[in-house]
Amino acid sequence: MDYSSLGKLLRSAQQDEAEAKRRRLTLYFISYVGGTIMAFMAWLNVGTNNPLLVGALTISTVVVYANVALSHVFPKSDVCYYIGGLIVLFTINVLVYTGGLNNTGLYFIYPLLFVQIIVVRFKPAMLYVSVTMGLAVVMLFNQGKIDAQYPDEHVSRFLISTFCFICIAFIGENFWHQSRKEMLKENLERMRQANTDPLTKLPNRRFLEAVFFEKAMQDPAAYFPLSAVVVDIDHFKKINDNYGHDVGDQVLIHVTSLMKEAVRSSDVVARTGGEEFLVLFPHATLTQAVKLAEKMRRLIEERPFVAGDINHPITASFGVATALTDTNLHASLKQADDNLYKAKNAGRNRVME
Ligand code: GH3
Ligand code: MG
Ligand code: MG
Repeated sequence: MDYSSLGKLLRSAQQDEAEAKRRRLTLYFISYVGGTIMAFMAWLNVGTNNPLLVGALTISTVVVYANVALSHVFPKSDVCYYIGGLIVLFTINVLVYTGGLNNTGLYFIYPLLFVQIIVVRFKPAMLYVSVTMGLAVVMLFNQGKIDAQYPDEHVSRFLISTFCFICIAFIGENFWHQSRKEMLKENLERMRQANTDPLTKLPNRRFLEAVFFEKAMQDPAAYFPLSAVVVDIDHFKKINDNYGHDVGDQVLIHVTSLMKEAVRSSDVVARTGGEEFLVLFPHATLTQAVKLAEKMRRLIEERPFVAGDINHPITASFGVATALTDTNLHASLKQADDNLYKAKNAGRNRVME
């Protein structure tokens, strides 16, 4: 597994779900409250000789409720936010066109624009607001063609105050967006550090348990049969004793790069202990995993550790086991461990299944 796949897995494990939930709840709240207010306004306008306004508010109310129902059925879909933005676009322009009750419709445009910005969010919201206000401006400057009549000074004050309002709303939105992005970045970096071994830069045991196995359990079809290979460098203590701890560290890095060379990018090489590694092969049978373990074993044996005057042969022992389903994952990890000990007892530098 390379660095970017590790990042991808970590990101997906991050709190984006909490943010998606918060956004959905905002849509529900705005839709229920906004839908009810629009229904009430439609009712208030019944009999005021403004059938277009009553009709449009009724349509908006129905679409708002239908949209929120859709969002309950498809909670993962973003379409409802964009439909919500379109309902606001429609309602604002109906208000401008009809003038609302006694040409007071413009007052409602501020909360509606704010709703559009927080429902659609940042960049797409800019487009929505531009189109919405573009249409409104065209109507305000062509009052001969619309039902409403607004005094000139109202139009200019309305446009200036709306412009200020939009700028402030987007500045707020931008701050929120940027600080969230930075927070996510910092969080990701912290998670990356907590899940990575600083010496070899490999994922560590915490990553396997908190992220990888969790993911595999959530989506078994994408991971099982999952083969596990436990790798332990032979007589590593002697390397430390002969050449010192720093050279021992270099040997760990050397063996890491050889193991990574032998596997696919979808496979995971993790450092689980001092000189012990766990390699996981998603969608690999026991036979395939044994072959891959043998490939790693040979590569390590064939490429001694060379640094300055040191030219030291390295070997490692391998225990292999396969979990056919998620239910026997932990049993198969234990089995791979037992097989490693068998490989050690049988003389080391071998693969045992
Ligand atoms: P065996 O073939 O039975 O596995 O023998 P071994 O010497 O490899 O195993 P043993 O468990 O006796 O020794 C492992 C050594 O690994 C002991 C420990 O000091 C060393 N070690 C653990 N972590 C690190 C590390 O991060 N860097 C270095 N240089 N050495 C480490
Ligand atoms: Mg060892
Ligand atoms: Mg060991």
